[in-house]
Amino acid sequence: MFEKQIKIPSAAEIIAERPVPAELAAIKRERDKLAIDVITGKSDKFLVIVGPCSAHESAPVLEYVRRLGKLNERVKDRLVLVPRIYTAKPRTKGVGYKGMFSQPDPEHKENTLKGIRTIRDLLLAAIEESGLSAADEMLYPENYAYVEDLISYVTIGARSSENQMHRLVASGVELPVGIKNPMSGSIPVLINSIYAAQSSQVFKYHDWQVRTGGNPYAHAVLRGRVDNYGNDIPNYHYETVMQVLESYRNTEGSLHNPAVIIDANHSNSGKRHRQQIRIVEEVLQNRTYDKDFRNIVKGVMIESFLVEGCQEHDTVFGKSITDPCLGWDDTERLLLELANRV
Ligand code: PEP
Ligand code: MN
Repeated sequence: MFEKQIKIPSAAEIIAERPVPAELAAIKRERDKLAIDVITGKSDKFLVIVGPCSAHESAPVLEYVRRLGKLNERVKDRLVLVPRIYTAKPRTKGVGYKGMFSQPDPEHKENTLKGIRTIRDLLLAAIEESGLSAADEMLYPENYAYVEDLISYVTIGARSSENQMHRLVASGVELPVGIKNPMSGSIPVLINSIYAAQSSQVFKYHDWQVRTGGNPYAHAVLRGRVDNYGNDIPNYHYETVMQVLESYRNTEGSLHNPAVIIDANHSNSGKRHRQQIRIVEEVLQNRTYDKDFRNIVKGVMIESFLVEGCQEHDTVFGKSITDPCLGWDDTERLLLELANRV
């Protein structure tokens, strides 16, 4: 049974309700280019995708990105900061809070139409108030069209990286798309996903058969893996990253722009959020140790919010209701250290 609940207008209709003002669209394009130049190696700046696991409420996210925008002024010569504003959340068991896209208020029922309008307003306000355009996870590929004019970086999550539709849509995205290693940690699966996303594809998308150009900026994000017994096993260490580099090399030039982003939380930290500081520091150390490591590791992903940790219900302002995050002071210290050391 599919009970029809709310008719959702097309992306073009929603965008026409409140189009992006030209000056904000120009900021987004400039931020796209900064991120793209890191992935292609044209720029040697370090990409940092940083922010809460999920954006569950606009006000604390805007406060967070305002702080990030100010900090950006101090680090922009060395870092390209991209705030995580994740509006759709995958759930390990498939139930629970699924993100602002479908649930604009985490304490109330789904309302996807209100959710879409809320996240567009949030992503737009974030650019206006911080000068930074966001990263979001493309959890439901058809929803990408509702935010594509507002974001500068896209991820494909660990539970989606082997999914056909994710790979096909990624091949048409004209932004860096970070593909997470699957939960199993399989590097061949990850490399195949990058191959698919970098290839031109023909498929049905919305009401059309479309042909994509292939996305040369699709790259790897290492988030750790989960073994058959449910244990988190990290994959940010030197040895694993060098294996990913080897796998890229084994494709004999069929992949563009070999790149790895280290996700410092999730199965790399075992969701012990403070470990992110140590993990990022270890990545920095390995970059000074080996030129190949330095060339392929082009950035990090950090889960961070105003208040450290997480909570079950939205009671503390700026504290995650999904994965535990670093707090603002630790984040600021870590980003300043990163800017000094990369
Ligand atoms: C996330 O980035 O919050 C996330 C859900 O990641 P993953 O897909 O790696 O579990
Ligand atoms: Mn998370």
